[in-house]
Amino acid sequence: STTSPSKAKLTPLVPGKEDPNRPLVELTHVEKHFGALHVLKDINLTVAKGEVLVVVGPSGSGKSTMCRTINRLETIDSGDIRIDGKPLPQEGKELANLRAEVGMVFQSFNLFANKTILENVTLALIKVRHMDKKEAEQLAMDLLARVGVDSQASKMPSQLSGGQQQRVAIARALAMRPKVMLFDEPTSALDPEMVNEVLDVMVELAHEGMTMICVTHEMGFARKAADRIVFMADGQILEENTPDEFFEHPQTDRAKDFLSKIL
Ligand code: ADP
Ligand code: MG
Repeated sequence: STTSPSKAKLTPLVPGKEDPNRPLVELTHVEKHFGALHVLKDINLTVAKGEVLVVVGPSGSGKSTMCRTINRLETIDSGDIRIDGKPLPQEGKELANLRAEVGMVFQSFNLFANKTILENVTLALIKVRHMDKKEAEQLAMDLLARVGVDSQASKMPSQLSGGQQQRVAIARALAMRPKVMLFDEPTSALDPEMVNEVLDVMVELAHEGMTMICVTHEMGFARKAADRIVFMADGQILEENTPDEFFEHPQTDRAKDFLSKIL
């Protein structure tokens, strides 16, 4: 009813404070091929600060590739990816810093096999964050305690169960104070009795306000922790909805078919 521009459209007075609501993670028209295979097709996705996004979809639909583009473990053919408004750095120190800001936990327990649990957590703190050893060890022990594996600190990764190793991997990522955490099927390789000890840590993180992108087949977790579900198939995002809407009223045949097989 008024002709004056909305406040949000006015030129900001403080540089860098352009948009307090800007997404923390933003993918725009992202395209990716592996040779002739078109794995990501016009991916558009935003994740707000503190939001928990769960990505589901059949195997081979591009979920892992999408995650890996966000911390530049994979390059993209075209499109744009921004973290906190900044385009992804290409190389060097900036890239190392990006990988610290975007924590990632994979399906396979990718701890350094020849380092102790404590060293696994302190390594990047010392090398990338230039923290002194004592300080790094103190922070590492705090975080290991938070995920319930501080008593394992002096052991080697192979001496821990899969569930314990994944919790160490989470602590290691958290030590870098990431802006966002990516989880790519972190419980798929675990024995069933260890799944919950990892999901519990993830739920706690979600409740503490961590921004998270989680690829998972754990629909109980998705219902409990997700603010939004993204359904991918054949390299495309086919649905994006609240958990209730997605599970109760899937819109596409692909999603209906996927849910009928997984639930
Ligand atoms: P998802 O995680 O949903 O199972 P991926 O992102 O792992 O899917 O894979 C998407 C498609 O890309 C699959 O067909 C897979 O075989 C293929 N792919 C993944 N990584 C590579 C790679 N490094 N080189 C070639 N093809 C790949
Ligand atoms: Mg995958």
